[in-house]
Amino acid sequence: MLTYNQSDEICIVGAGLWGLCLAHFLKNNPNPSQTVCIYEASQRSGGVIDSIPLGDGILETGPNGFLDSNPATINLCKEIGLGEELVRASSSAARSRFLYLRGQLHKLPSSFIGMAFSPVLSFSAKLRILKEYWQTRRLIPEDESIADFFRAHFGDEIANTLANAFVTGIWGGDAEQLSLPSCFPAWRQIEQETGSLLRGIRARRIAKIKTARQNGDPLPSLPTMWSLKNGLGELIKTLEKKLGPHLQRGAKVNSIELRQFGDNRKWLVHLDNGSPPRQFSRLILACPAHEQAKLLKPIHPKLASELEGITSSPIAVVGMLFSETQLTESPIKADGFGYLTPERDGRPILGVQWCSSIFPGIRAPKGRHLWRALVGGPKHGNLLGLDDDRLLRVVLDELKSVGNWKITPEIVKIIRWKNAIPQYALGHSVKVNVIQQYAKELPGLTIGGSCMKGVAINVCVEQAGLLAQNIIQDRL
Ligand SMILES: Cc1cc2nc3c(=O)[nH]c(=O)nc-3n(C[C@H](O)[C@H](O)[C@H](O)COP(=O)(O)OP(=O)(O)OC[C@H]3O[C@@H](n4cnc5c(N)ncnc54)[C@H](O)[C@@H]3O)c2cc1C
Repeated sequence: MLTYNQSDEICIVGAGLWGLCLAHFLKNNPNPSQTVCIYEASQRSGGVIDSIPLGDGILETGPNGFLDSNPATINLCKEIGLGEELVRASSSAARSRFLYLRGQLHKLPSSFIGMAFSPVLSFSAKLRILKEYWQTRRLIPEDESIADFFRAHFGDEIANTLANAFVTGIWGGDAEQLSLPSCFPAWRQIEQETGSLLRGIRARRIAKIKTARQNGDPLPSLPTMWSLKNGLGELIKTLEKKLGPHLQRGAKVNSIELRQFGDNRKWLVHLDNGSPPRQFSRLILACPAHEQAKLLKPIHPKLASELEGITSSPIAVVGMLFSETQLTESPIKADGFGYLTPERDGRPILGVQWCSSIFPGIRAPKGRHLWRALVGGPKHGNLLGLDDDRLLRVVLDELKSVGNWKITPEIVKIIRWKNAIPQYALGHSVKVNVIQQYAKELPGLTIGGSCMKGVAINVCVEQAGLLAQNIIQDRL
């Protein structure tokens, strides 16, 4: 017999970074009747984030780090006592990024202006960059693909090479399919302000420098990547510790029901671990979109169908540890961030990150290298079906052909993410609005997680923080 429970208990489904952050911020809630419980299907929380030993190195299974252009994650780390553990990427990682194009590796300039002098682009593409600076306002479409946005500003060549590779690197996706306003809202905003992307970026930079000078602060540098000494898994472990018994791992939410208890409707949450169902006033779904769809299908099929429409790109992370002597035959000094390939070039590897050069002495001991190849994406998802030996062979053959790197790794670890990164396809912002409208029809329900408003670590932390504030201040 189920009885009415007076307290305003909050249930979060999914302890990836998004759910963990939300639970953490809610724990600071001054209202003692609003208690939080977070359920995680797996025995390990963190979702795609984990840092695992690879021999005497550390391999990140998901994200490699976060940028300081948004302070959300740095602030969170400091707040939970990880300030001393923060590490900044090497200056060579910021300076040296490569693009594999037309059968050759090219060093990428760090700015659009630098592009104008780089051999990566043809003369006419360089002229387009200069022309963009004087671009007048265009009629901005409600939605457009990232490729089309770049086409409108810089022409075909840049859209097909740089923009394509950039999207591969961040979203593991297809620039022709992904929505610019959903994936890069800041660029849309800059365009709305100035018409030209280059003029807008320059104006923002000048404004930042002016403010820094007025306040006597150090002048702003270009965005830099950060991580933690022992990897981002440390962030997850610390959040886990802080949550204590509020977090239950190995507790997959199997089904949910919205039931009437007296005058109130409450959520009844059923777990697959045999524990009795529990009632909550508020339910926040922070698991991947397809999992949310499964839970909501019996209750609100239209909402479930919208969520099902948010697909994710499949990515395999191939971590390799090897000694420096193995790189001697290559003419390319693997010192920097790594390289990217435009997805449309059809290469099997989306990119390779030289983790031991990004965070020297931290991801692998001196004299050894730890690299991660990212394989898959929308066009090569089938490669995730290869067994480890064959997948590794694809990677090693590609490294030989790209940089004449003839590597025989001492240790290899392959992690396959069938649903690695949600893809914000054209129409995503309309979909998000529809999802939020449908969710309002179910009292106490919130749709969260990286499938909604941003996949970057900083955005996950920020969005979870905003939702917590709204819940605490009872603004939902
Ligand atoms: C390979 C890779 C590289 C990346 N690189 C970067 C990077 O360099 N920088 C950056 O900023 N971002 C990067 N990202 C993106 C970022 O890591 C993710 O967007 C973010 O971690 C997603 O967090 P999440 O909590 O929304 O989802 P997830 O990590 O997917 O977590 C969802 C959780 O829900 C749980 N769950 C599912 N179903 C249920 C259920 N029924 N009941 C209970 N629990 C359930 C899952 O087990 C999982 O733990 C990368 C991602 C990947 C995959």
